[in-house]
Amino acid sequence: MKQYDVVVIGAGNGGLAAAVKLLSAGKSCLVCEKHNLPGGFATSFVRGRFEFEASLHEFNGIGTPENPGSTRLLFRELGVEDKIEWVQLKDAFHLISKEEDYRFTMPFGLEAFAEAADKLYPGGKKYTEQLFSVGLQIREALEYLSISKGKPDPSILKEKYPDFLRFASCSVSEGFNAMGFPKMIKDICSAYWCYLGAHCDNLGFIHYVNMLYSYISGGAAIPKHRSHELSLAFETRIRELGGDIWYNAEVTRIITDDMGHVSGVQINDGTEIKTRHVIANCSPHVVYGRLMDPEAVPERALKLTNSRKLAGRGFTVFLALDRSPDDLGIKEHNYFIYDTCDSVRQYKNMGKLHENSAQATVCLNRAIPDCSPEGTTILYMTTLFTEDVWSLVTAEDYFKVKNEVAASMIDRFEKSTDTHIRDHIEEIAVATPITYARYCGHPQGTVYGYESQYWDGLLPRVMMVEEDHFVPGLRIGGGYGERLLGYPSSYKSGYNEAVRTLRDMEKEGE
Ligand SMILES: Cc1cc2nc3c(=O)[nH]c(=O)nc-3n(C[C@H](O)[C@H](O)[C@H](O)COP(=O)(O)OP(=O)(O)OC[C@H]3O[C@@H](n4cnc5c(N)ncnc54)[C@H](O)[C@@H]3O)c2cc1C
Repeated sequence: MKQYDVVVIGAGNGGLAAAVKLLSAGKSCLVCEKHNLPGGFATSFVRGRFEFEASLHEFNGIGTPENPGSTRLLFRELGVEDKIEWVQLKDAFHLISKEEDYRFTMPFGLEAFAEAADKLYPGGKKYTEQLFSVGLQIREALEYLSISKGKPDPSILKEKYPDFLRFASCSVSEGFNAMGFPKMIKDICSAYWCYLGAHCDNLGFIHYVNMLYSYISGGAAIPKHRSHELSLAFETRIRELGGDIWYNAEVTRIITDDMGHVSGVQINDGTEIKTRHVIANCSPHVVYGRLMDPEAVPERALKLTNSRKLAGRGFTVFLALDRSPDDLGIKEHNYFIYDTCDSVRQYKNMGKLHENSAQATVCLNRAIPDCSPEGTTILYMTTLFTEDVWSLVTAEDYFKVKNEVAASMIDRFEKSTDTHIRDHIEEIAVATPITYARYCGHPQGTVYGYESQYWDGLLPRVMMVEEDHFVPGLRIGGGYGERLLGYPSSYKSGYNEAVRTLRDMEKEGE
């Protein structure tokens, strides 16, 4: 029987980062991936003469080699920085909202963003500057919490991070109200809410403002050769460090011993691998509900998992168009298109099959002009379903409903941007929650892990990380982890779980 210090289940961002960290520390490590390629959502696919990005709209926390963001520093430490070519994005977002009649672009950069807010709403600069100063404090306080391993000194928190404490228990809406923001400033500053998939009455202020600050202060980037480039960089690094990756190797069972400690895993062809440590890059619903023997799952693990809310289920329309963006009048890289900037109402409408009217749409050529053959365009439109409505669609109706939802997203894009793209579609692919559920194995096709909630947002998860560790030898990292969804968070979460696993091994004398 093969034996490894650690087995990582899943070669998504979290699993790949965890494996590199473990191997760098001299441990033996096997990554088991059910697919035939690495990356999970961080991948690309080809239709006709086009290579589509499968998920990434934008990546924050990269910065530049001279002024690196936190994720670039992580990539540097893991030895993958030089394997990736980044393209910096010019603007933050182009917001279109029907109800408020908004159509404007917001730039990256704290000053530029504040100036733009001021032009849209006289006096807006003052409010945004106030928010960014709180954002900086939040970032520093979170770094302090991370260093203090969940046991911060309250006097330091009070003295150095008073705004952090003031807003710690607030939702985004409560925080913006407390700061006296007028509606338009609230709308501008909360436009990114769809990236976290929870509405502003539920979404933790600390989590959201930390993300907003990261995007606006450091800008965002994308890899030149799609997110598959990121996954390949990690896969190459794992092999350089002597690690193993097995593809088409779905883990079907996590085995525990009489003491409840992890003792191995079994994969789909029946092979058993001996290990005392597993990092699962998949959903806790799958880990506790399918991979473990029921009697080996602690009750608290089940209670916590069942009380969590699955985040948005993904739906994406991928289009390749036979005209250039200039010919089609597509001006922006990143569109947020809403019916209303009232995120509570918008979120509710995203729970309905035929009424979902929000989309985040990317024109890849506006960031990478040569990403498709000359005279063509790659455009992809994503929305989230906030309820499990796709389980109501029968197998017979599936293609009809999928086409209707895709068509309504194309219509909405055309109407909102005064463009005409429908007659120029050369390739089209549509991913529904069913596609995402099958692709990565996530329940109901959620692409965002567990939704960020008051009680289950960034702060409670960071503070409770050790208390929420239930099975000796088993750690869970990636988009379901303490940093929640997203590229930077899933890499960081995988890395953090590897550090904790190394600590567990040290404690156990391994
Ligand atoms: C359309 C779309 C757009 C997005 N846009 C952005 C964006 O612009 N910016 C951003 O930051 N984030 C974005 N995200 C979110 C981001 O892609 C995810 O949060 C992140 O990729 C999740 O990484 P992960 O580590 O959780 O792994 P996942 O990508 O969830 O991968 C898990 C891996 O584990 C494997 N696996 C599961 N079970 C098993 C098993 N039993 N045995 C073996 N292997 C198994 C799966 O096959 C998969 O490869 C987007 C997601 C989607 C779908």
